[in-house]
Amino acid sequence: MYLNADQLPDNTLLQGFDLCIVGAGAAGLAMAKRLAGTSVKALVLSSGLPSDRGRPDAARQAVYRGTIGPFLQKVDAQFLERSRLHMHGGTTNHFGFWSRPLDEVDLRPRPGYRDAHWPFGLDELVPYYRAAHDFGRFGPFNYDDIAFWERVLYARCFPPLPGDSLTGAVMHAQYEESLHDFQVQFADELRAAPNITVLFNAHLLAVESTAGKDHVTGLACATIEDGRAGRRFRVEASAYVLAMGGIETVRVLKLSGDLGDNRKGHLGRGFMVHPLVTSAARVRFSRPVETEICNFFRDQQVRLQPPQTEGGEYVHVSAPLVNPEDIFNYCVFNAWGVLVPKAENLEAEKIGNFRLILRFSPARDEAIVNVNWEQLPNENSAISLNPSQLDPIFGQPVTHLDWRLLDADKRTLARALELCRAYLQARGATAFDLITDLSGGADHWSFAPDEGALATGDHHMGALRMSAGSQDGIVNPDSRLHSVDNLYIAGCSVFPTGGFANPTLTIIALALRLADHLRAALTTMP
Ligand SMILES: Cc1cc2nc3c(=O)[nH]c(=O)nc-3n(C[C@H](O)[C@H](O)[C@H](O)COP(=O)(O)OP(=O)(O)OC[C@H]3O[C@@H](n4cnc5c(N)ncnc54)[C@H](O)[C@@H]3O)c2cc1C
Repeated sequence: MYLNADQLPDNTLLQGFDLCIVGAGAAGLAMAKRLAGTSVKALVLSSGLPSDRGRPDAARQAVYRGTIGPFLQKVDAQFLERSRLHMHGGTTNHFGFWSRPLDEVDLRPRPGYRDAHWPFGLDELVPYYRAAHDFGRFGPFNYDDIAFWERVLYARCFPPLPGDSLTGAVMHAQYEESLHDFQVQFADELRAAPNITVLFNAHLLAVESTAGKDHVTGLACATIEDGRAGRRFRVEASAYVLAMGGIETVRVLKLSGDLGDNRKGHLGRGFMVHPLVTSAARVRFSRPVETEICNFFRDQQVRLQPPQTEGGEYVHVSAPLVNPEDIFNYCVFNAWGVLVPKAENLEAEKIGNFRLILRFSPARDEAIVNVNWEQLPNENSAISLNPSQLDPIFGQPVTHLDWRLLDADKRTLARALELCRAYLQARGATAFDLITDLSGGADHWSFAPDEGALATGDHHMGALRMSAGSQDGIVNPDSRLHSVDNLYIAGCSVFPTGGFANPTLTIIALALRLADHLRAALTTMP
């Protein structure tokens, strides 16, 4: 059911729900979809409107204003407002659904801030990854079947050589808006589900809890009307999930009296993005690289016909379809290859994971190397409140984001490029010229407008890290705050480490896992 909070009388108390999910982006909507049609009576608070699509309303987006530290100022001064969208569907309105699951090696410990590793292995996530993968209509869940993707892409990765440190891997993307805008993809199902109420124009201001801050008693909420704070209302449920994105969720916990700060001062620490240098190096070859190899690294549209018989294969079809209706049965998306470190090399190097994209010139004798890598957990990279500046709508302190890197992050980029150089020289590269500046440490980079500038991938991870023990993180392996018995977090902020993969497939997988956990827990609750 769809409802608008504008229609509620001022100071309404909404109660009788098993679950309240706050935030209707990738994580919140994935949970709502999973719970649709179950016995869990869930209320979803969406900050936006049912008609939202594309760009947010400027007045509402102003809630996302904030202040940033000097380093982020140099890299991306607009980061807080540019990299997230305050609207129905959240940031899925801008994303291209670039996807790949984390690798097993990504779940293992990384050096850095406290004990950073995932409290379970990949097996725990795989069933949820499969379901998340279906949201993108990506066909077979076989990212590691390079032979399959080489066939589909009419391509071949560089042939392996003894002593290689790098290997090929595959990425997917879904650029079809009706699939990547989750509020569009799931609208009919959520509107029809008898157990789901989506409440629009609903903004969480603070989470109310017991004196001991170990149990949530309700949510203080408000609407936005004519660009200003509108009517107030309160929500009570048995359990609550905050799914407001990797930065805003932290801000609201801080606005709620540092709720969940189980080891004083750690709430909001360890914030990570995926650093990125689009033009890191230029590589030249003595003669054109084979077309098939260049094809491996090209972002190509693929059209897979689902298996015709039980256990059969997906088949790539390039011929025009005779019956245009058939297109709806096919999986249409994009795929391409990247170079990544072999797991054993990565662990030995004690650096973050990374991926290299090669952009070949039309003559195929030159390529630009694009590097995107894993930031290591860093205590001093943190989200806090800035009480000297208030948001223009609700008048609450804005976010202050002090994103920082470590020397080890610079080392990851340097090592990624060294390994790339060695790999390509063994395959006929005659020159490998750095474009980006590798000298200096954590604060020394090429900054825009230089070619080779450091950029931030728009992924907000780590500030509410998941950990087995309460000494190492904020949420437990069920995504529940260690110190609060009925408050859960969905989204990137729970990632203990980030790998190189774009995070939303993992966000969705974790959200589906949390939905199943809550369904079981709420059904057995007295
Ligand atoms: C340009 C761009 C391209 C991207 N491309 C990719 C990609 O290809 N692949 C990938 O994996 N990731 C990509 N991302 C990142 C991806 O969009 C995010 O990882 C994902 O949307 C995060 O999901 P989320 O549900 O945690 O947050 P969001 O999708 O941001 O949703 C949060 C929701 O909570 C709402 N909200 C916030 N505060 C409140 C409040 N106080 N009360 C109520 N509701 C609130 C917001 O309005 C929003 O609806 C991209 C991001 C950008 C900016």
